[in-house]
Amino acid sequence: MSKYISSRLASLQAYVPGEQPADMEYIKLNTNESPYPPPPGVINAVSGAEIAKLNLYPNPDGARLVKRLADFYSVKPENVIIGNGSDELLAFAFLAFGDAEHGVCFPDITYGFYPVYAALYDIPARQIPLRDDFTIDIADYRNAGSNIVLANPNAPTGIALPLSDIEEVVESNSGHIVLIDEAYIDFGAESAVPLTGKYENLIVMHTYSKFRSMAGARMAYAIAQAPLIEDLNKIKYSFNSYNVNRLTQIAGEAALDEDDYFREMCRRVVDTREYTAASLRELGFSMTESSANFLFARNPRIQGKILYAALKERGVLVRHFDKPRISDYLRITIGTREHMDALLSAITDILAERKNNG
Ligand code: PMP
Repeated sequence: MSKYISSRLASLQAYVPGEQPADMEYIKLNTNESPYPPPPGVINAVSGAEIAKLNLYPNPDGARLVKRLADFYSVKPENVIIGNGSDELLAFAFLAFGDAEHGVCFPDITYGFYPVYAALYDIPARQIPLRDDFTIDIADYRNAGSNIVLANPNAPTGIALPLSDIEEVVESNSGHIVLIDEAYIDFGAESAVPLTGKYENLIVMHTYSKFRSMAGARMAYAIAQAPLIEDLNKIKYSFNSYNVNRLTQIAGEAALDEDDYFREMCRRVVDTREYTAASLRELGFSMTESSANFLFARNPRIQGKILYAALKERGVLVRHFDKPRISDYLRITIGTREHMDALLSAITDILAERKNNG
């Protein structure tokens, strides 16, 4: 850190993304990407002709893509904003709706960027403990008295809330924003998008990074009533009006024609998740019930940190969070069946070695 950094930011703990070491080829199960490439329709959409237009700025509103998304979800274009990944839209939302007076609450175990944005913008944040089994007690969020951010399914637990619970939270907090981060919604939970027409305080956020196999494109969108989208646009146009690049906008449109492909890849991921969960249980693991494209698992015979390091040595990257309550767990992204067989065989070896060494 330099001596020039703003004193406001000197103590800020930045978010740490999943590692991408370059020392060898790893099986990468640590950032919840899809193991499947985007479909040919998306790849072909990013044509040479479009690349040749990179001298020109993209459409700042992403008007065509926004219209396509609006049609896809049966809402109006004024109900949609696109962003450079949901991380950016989350940053816009925290900035737009949070301040010293309007705090925010979220679970103690959830997406690690929420506390970072709260700290970045000096927003008082209340972290509400999950139950011992890592489920959310919805009673904690009735009339919460502040804005609320919930990932559904939650990360890194993968546990989903039913839509009726989400609606109860939204309804009982009409004076505050309720932001539902649905990054993993397609892998097994019910979306709150249809509720956005009914509730003026609800924002639902989706990303192209998981279900739509496009983490590298950095593309996400939020759906809400028009005044909330206007507020988010106010931040966007005060920050970076060209936030979604030309190639991503084109790819983003093409992806909306490829739902069958994405649903098929999602079905594969869900099948592989169930296969991996059953295999891990046979190896003595316990885990939360995941509705996402990852598992959150622990084995009483080996500490999370040690298993993480042993897997890395064998070329398999998973995510370990050195945090209270979850330090014995690993978050394991669901890859292809081959990836998961490699993980399972590495774990089998590691456990056998420990047994042999007493
Ligand atoms: N929300 C949650 C719950 C996530 O796990 C992630 C991915 N790390 C994001 C948002 C960010 O996704 P994006 O790639 O769209 O920025």
